[in-house]
Amino acid sequence: MIPQGTCRFCQINSGSYKYLDIDEPIAGNDDFIAVASIGALVEGWSLIMPRKHQLSMRNYYSTPLLGNLIESLLPILVQQYGPVMVFEHGANTEGSITSCGTDHAHLHLVPFGESLLLDMYGSGLNWIRCRSSEIASLTGESEYLFYSELGTDCKWIDPAGHLHILERPFSQFFRRLIAKKTIGDNMFDYKSNPNIEVSRKTRRALVSMYTPTP
Ligand SMILES: [Zn+2]
Ligand SMILES: [Zn+2]
Repeated sequence: MIPQGTCRFCQINSGSYKYLDIDEPIAGNDDFIAVASIGALVEGWSLIMPRKHQLSMRNYYSTPLLGNLIESLLPILVQQYGPVMVFEHGANTEGSITSCGTDHAHLHLVPFGESLLLDMYGSGLNWIRCRSSEIASLTGESEYLFYSELGTDCKWIDPAGHLHILERPFSQFFRRLIAKKTIGDNMFDYKSNPNIEVSRKTRRALVSMYTPTP
């Protein structure tokens, strides 16, 4: 485990924000929070993360509180931006390059109407179909990539998706594909392209539309 206090997402959870008006969570419950993503390639790009420091979401996919939080955001994302896809870079060690710059588990919620499937299957990686609840048993200790198209369906009922079990770490896989379809494939790296203004807009829009579920 990394020393306490050095993980940016743990800092967000404890209320100390690096990007003041962006990092403040949009929504949250006892176990998870939602924030606007830094480095968003499209507006609306959000992250769901466990409050607890974990390396991947694999053991969380079946937990009701994850579904509750996602379902409270999906109607807003769909209404404001259109069809939504989700993906995760499931890491398994601190500092793995598979995780996109943070070791803290997170799920990307991205309103992007164009499918990545052709590019994913054309990438040379092997993909298997599975439901999110099957990721933990299928991956064991391995790192993985998971992708699912929710479209305009605002429910989170153990979605079916596509899983790649990594043979070697891979950085920012899905970002590269989305960058290619949006601002250009050399712009995929969020470190050189943090797109702060897009994140700021996302947070403002989502906070203004969000109604906490009782
Ligand atoms: Zn953390
Ligand atoms: Zn990520």
